[in-house]
Formats: sequence, C-alpha cells, structure tokens
Amino acid sequence: MLVSVEIKNMNSLLNIENLTKAFDGITALDRFSCDIFENEIVGLIGPNGAGKTTLYNVITGFLECDKGSITFEGKDVTKKPPHKIACCGIARTFQDLRLLKRMTVMENILLSFQHQKGEGLYNVFVNNKEVLQQQNDNLERALSLLDYAGIKDKENNLAEELSYGQQKLLSIICCLAADAKLLLLDEPIAGINPEMRERILEIIKELPSKGKSVVIIEHDMDFISHLCDRVIFMDAGQKVSEGTPEEVRNDPKVIEAYID
Ligand code: ATP
Repeated sequence: MLVSVEIKNMNSLLNIENLTKAFDGITALDRFSCDIFENEIVGLIGPNGAGKTTLYNVITGFLECDKGSITFEGKDVTKKPPHKIACCGIARTFQDLRLLKRMTVMENILLSFQHQKGEGLYNVFVNNKEVLQQQNDNLERALSLLDYAGIKDKENNLAEELSYGQQKLLSIICCLAADAKLLLLDEPIAGINPEMRERILEIIKELPSKGKSVVIIEHDMDFISHLCDRVIFMDAGQKVSEGTPEEVRNDPKVIEAYID
C-alpha cells in the first residue's frame, strides 16, 4: 500500500479500525481501517458498490457495523446514533441531498445548528433571553453563510425551488452551520454546471484553513486530484491503495480494479 504523504506531526481526527459490515451475505465493508487527520482533504474513491456510502453510513450512525471501532477526537463513537455523532462534530451530505424541500433555504440552515438552547423546555421558560439571543445569532450566522456561498438572495425560497447545483451548495452550507469539524461529502459536484462546480471547489478548498477536515466521495478524478491532499481507494469493502492523488492514480492495483 502506498503512503508517501507526509503524516508526521499530524493529529488523527478520525480513526477507523477494522470496520466490517455485511448485508445478507454481501460484505460491504471488510476490515476497513484508516485515519483522517486534522485540516486535510481526503478523496474516497472506488468503483460502484465498493462500500463508500456504507462507510459514511456507519461513521455517521445511520448503520451499525458488525465489527470494528470508530474513534473521533479520541472518543469512541462506534454505534452511536446519528444525532449524537452530529453533536460530536461530524456532518455529512447525501447523494440524494435529503434537504427539507418544502422548507425555506433559511429554515434548512437554522435546523442544522447544533446545541440549540431552545430545545429544552427549561431554557424556553427560564433562560428565555439567552434562547432569543441564540436565535438572533443563528439568524445572523445563517445570513453570512448564505452570503459566503453567493445565494443570499435565495434565503426565502423553498429548497425545492433552487437549481440542483444550488441545492448541493445548500447541503454543504448546512454542514457548515452544524459547525462540524469533519465533513463527509457524497458526490458534491456530480451533475452540476461548471460555474457551480468552481464555487463548490473554492468553498471546500478553504475548509482546512478554517480548522476542518473533509472526506469527499467523487468519481471525477480531475476534481479529486485538484483538491485532495490524500486519496483512499477502496474496492469490495477493503482499502486497496492510499497516497497522493498521483500515486493512487498510477497504482497498478487501482488501474486493474477499474479495468476488471
Ligand atoms: P456507489 O459508488 O455506486 O454509490 P458505493 O461504493 O457507495 O457505490 P455502497 O452503496 O456502500 O457502495 O454499497 C456496497 C455494497 O453493499 C453493494 O454491494 C450494495 O449493493 C450493498 N448495500 C449497500 N447498502 C445496502 C443495504 N441497505 N442493503 C443491502 N445491501 C446494501
């Protein structure tokens, strides 16, 4: 396996050890292990059915693994439910986006904020001032995120009224609103126009400088090569290769897997 990327002095944010997950005899993850370090962008590639989405589902608690462990910021988060994982600082997007399409763009973002004081009745009645203050802060932050993404004029549109590319952008903004330290993005640029692709690329590129790590599932190798510090190639639930985009691209095991 190739690992020539400089990982000395980098802190592991996410550690995955021997994750295994089978569905009725189909092994989707087969003793899969990897680390994601702080402030890096990692591409997760592999042919259809390799187990990429299953890996996201297991990390984020949408599926339970059969074996193995997941540690995030030194804390064991294996088999924790999705809301607990989100509170720990891991956010994700979905291939089918899963926005609340009949709600406005602003409402989608506001619902993504974590640790809401207004969720508890005690705070609503006793700390009402704090709850209102947080609501105002959230509103301001949501507007600044929309401004940053270039879709501030869409704040009152229903999510379903946005173009497909804008919806993809909104799903990334929702991860940013969640203030996650690790973003797991599932095909963030598939099926969108070149202009939107450029905007999403710029937003993702800046995330490490904001203290965030990103994992990206994407079939577009040029996009991955342009953006990622490291690439992990998986096939049949296993990690087959790992290294710089160049190294993985030229790894005979990777070439063979795509030809087969
Ligand atoms: P793609 O690039 O096509 O999205 P992938 O690498 O994300 O593929 P997965 O969707 O994780 O692959 O699927 C891995 C394997 O697990 C496949 O054989 C798939 O059919 C199977 N699988 C995934 N989810 C389920 C499920 N809920 N029930 C049964 N089998 C599943």
